[in-house]
Amino acid sequence: MWRNLKITKTSGSRLADVDFEALGFGNVFSDHMFSMTFREGAWRDPEILPYGHIALAPGCATLHYGQSVFEGLKAFLGEDNVARVFRPEMNARRLIHSCERLCIPPVDEAEFCAAIDALVGLDHAWIPRKRGQALYIRPLIFGIENHLEVRPSTAFRFIVMTAPVRAYFQEGVEPIALKVEETYTRSAPGGVGHVKTAGNYAASLYPTQLGARDGYVQMVWLDGIEHRYIEEVGAMNIFFRLKDRIVTPDLHGTILPGVTRDSAITLLRDAGHSVEERRIAIDEIVQAVHSGDLLEVFGAGTAAIIAPVGRFAYQDQVFDVQDNQAGEVTRWLYDCLTDLQRGDAEDRYGWNRLIELDVPRSAAASS
Ligand SMILES: *Cc1c(COP(=O)(O)O)cnc(C)c1O
Repeated sequence: MWRNLKITKTSGSRLADVDFEALGFGNVFSDHMFSMTFREGAWRDPEILPYGHIALAPGCATLHYGQSVFEGLKAFLGEDNVARVFRPEMNARRLIHSCERLCIPPVDEAEFCAAIDALVGLDHAWIPRKRGQALYIRPLIFGIENHLEVRPSTAFRFIVMTAPVRAYFQEGVEPIALKVEETYTRSAPGGVGHVKTAGNYAASLYPTQLGARDGYVQMVWLDGIEHRYIEEVGAMNIFFRLKDRIVTPDLHGTILPGVTRDSAITLLRDAGHSVEERRIAIDEIVQAVHSGDLLEVFGAGTAAIIAPVGRFAYQDQVFDVQDNQAGEVTRWLYDCLTDLQRGDAEDRYGWNRLIELDVPRSAAASS
């Protein structure tokens, strides 16, 4: 799409040093990154260059005031040696929405997807093969102007980086334990809880650290007004299976509209499950534990895919979800989604964007 896309390839690939059996989450980055700069009213200078440090002035306003938005999506490599990126158009549209809220000039959908095509096509050898693993794609936009006034920057940088990542959910791994947070809140009506912007995560660090001391990997956030209605979990949306229906909080401006959430709702409904998007009070869930109606709880997000929740703490009590095992619908959904993403199941919704590989993968050296 760009006639002027400049590509500078690395002179020494780091791929051979990567242990694909011991991947973390975003601690190893692929060889290249995509970059584009906004100045004098337009996005310019699209290029692919070796992943590496960037120079910023200490007065760069984003470092002080957080004018930054990001996205997270994944590329997979199937048995058929085709690279697939899962629903990038949805991430592109969400990024545009985030940009608007943060006064950042948007990158349009076609350019967003073209940047990913070019980058993943070039670094395809970095896409892990194992089920559960993926090449995580992290687009990021931030102001780069050197000034301390609180006002929107006039110059921005758009960078896309990729990282081979591990499976969060593996066969035999214990379901996660969550703490329902009663004191701190993640977002409030009119705020930025519905957009993927840096400040949301900065604000969550302290309460999450307190929870981690007690053995809880993530918080279940409650609404910012009454501390009563369930919102979401760290970087996942949350679902509850209550007897014959599945419920999840509706999108009312304070939670992130997850691509995985949307995909899960579609897959569940098409399989005949009744899914309700509505307000869910924490008391309703506690009651459902007592009555035996709470059958499963799971989180849904790009990083965690579908993560079973086996236990949660609320008001000094600990509740087990059934017998702290991944439930039947949770497992089915995980398989369904990963089959689709890897190309093992028919892509009946047209969710996968296929990427032409630079070199046929079968001819590439790495596993
Ligand atoms: C990214 C994110 C999610 C999940 O969204 P996906 O598009 O499914 O990855 C949920 N909550 C928060 C706060 C997030 O940042």
